[in-house]
Amino acid sequence: MSYDEKCPVCGTVNHGVNLDETEGWMICEHCGSETQDSRFIRRAKIPVLSAKAAAKYAVPFDLRASK
Ligand SMILES: [Zn+2]
Repeated sequence: MSYDEKCPVCGTVNHGVNLDETEGWMICEHCGSETQDSRFIRRAKIPVLSAKAAAKYAVPFDLRASK
């Protein structure tokens, strides 16, 4: 699918860019800036543990030494 994307740097509308193929990246035909559309940025959720919660996953020192 092709898109008409406005360059966030100079405001020029770039017609018919294929963002699916480039994972959202485009090079502006006017100013040459490389930008990525935020709709295509993959996000990963990273769990945040408190020190107390992380302690459940810790291996006692004497068990670690025997391996
Ligand atoms: Zn531009």
